Amino acid sequence: MYKRILQLLIITAVAAVTALIIRNYSSPLLVEQSPTRMVMGTVANITVVAKKQAIITKSIAAAFDKLVEIDEMMSDYLPDSELSQLNANAFDEPVKVSDELFEVIKAAIEYSKLSDAAFDITIGPVVELWRRSEKEGKNSTEEELAAAKAKVGYEKLILDEQNRSVRFKVDGMVLDLGAIAKGYAIDLAIGQMQKAGAVGGLVDVGGDIRCFGISPKLNNIWRVGLEDPKGGDLLEVIHLTDRAIATSGDYRRFVMIDDRKYSHIINPQTTKSASDLTSVTVIAPTAMQADALATSVSVMGHEKGLELIELVPEVEAIVIPAGEQIEFIKTGGAEKFISE
Ligand code: AMP
Ligand code: MG
Repeated sequence: MYKRILQLLIITAVAAVTALIIRNYSSPLLVEQSPTRMVMGTVANITVVAKKQAIITKSIAAAFDKLVEIDEMMSDYLPDSELSQLNANAFDEPVKVSDELFEVIKAAIEYSKLSDAAFDITIGPVVELWRRSEKEGKNSTEEELAAAKAKVGYEKLILDEQNRSVRFKVDGMVLDLGAIAKGYAIDLAIGQMQKAGAVGGLVDVGGDIRCFGISPKLNNIWRVGLEDPKGGDLLEVIHLTDRAIATSGDYRRFVMIDDRKYSHIINPQTTKSASDLTSVTVIAPTAMQADALATSVSVMGHEKGLELIELVPEVEAIVIPAGEQIEFIKTGGAEKFISE
């Protein structure tokens, strides 16, 4: 993992000092990639296209500030985050939350409904057990998992739209926004760049990406590599224009217990880790959509998961089932994003 971060740091550090000029537009545009920074527990970098250096500098700063702000709001690792405060108090009384936190929780409930509860941010108590198992090197008992499951279920959340407050119906509930907050933060970071006057750009947080507008390549295509879960060469190059892409998979992050790998994605119905798919990549108009749906498909498995994706307009998916062979299963429209 650290080797990979180091590699990324080196690649992006080299790119950072290479400010390019795009000349195929009436007035030349500047393009710059930021140095890599650690945000939301992973590596992030930002590329901006703009007419002036001042806009580039402002865009990069504003986008990173937004990523940090959302992390400080929605991280379950930071005890002072707004989310941690909500988790500590929302059973005792309704807790008023920021517009951003309310918006993400509300959207998450919609993804729960859409995915038949495969996606569920109330998964927190089960995630905590899995984290403990990893630390102690032994599996949780069925009783412990059953007790945690009793605190899971998006229908146990009460949202008050008028007061922007959230309340838990069951004591011990814990929200975990790990499958959606990164995408939401990327969308807001893109908004900051547009507000600062950038005409194009890309935000990459740990491989979850959204791009917009003019790119340094012909036809405003942003090229994104799809990694080989087994560590080989890039499997595919995806061409994106005004789109987002997110990948969920057990090869990116996993839990180790007794030398066995478990996915960090949990099926809320069984409380077991999702094991059907090695990797799920979703291409969607927004990063929040791509993030939430990639996790949903990981839980649902390729048949039900891709059936769902086919129903959602403007969204495509590429999945790699678990197993020795690398085999792709794609939705009908995915091919148009893959370069020849
Ligand atoms: P992602 O990498 O976007 O697929 O998000 C995975 C993270 O989301 C995990 O590390 C957990 O914190 C959380 N999570 C695990 N299972 C679920 C689930 N079924 N629904 C929502 N969030 C989940
Ligand atoms: Mg996700």
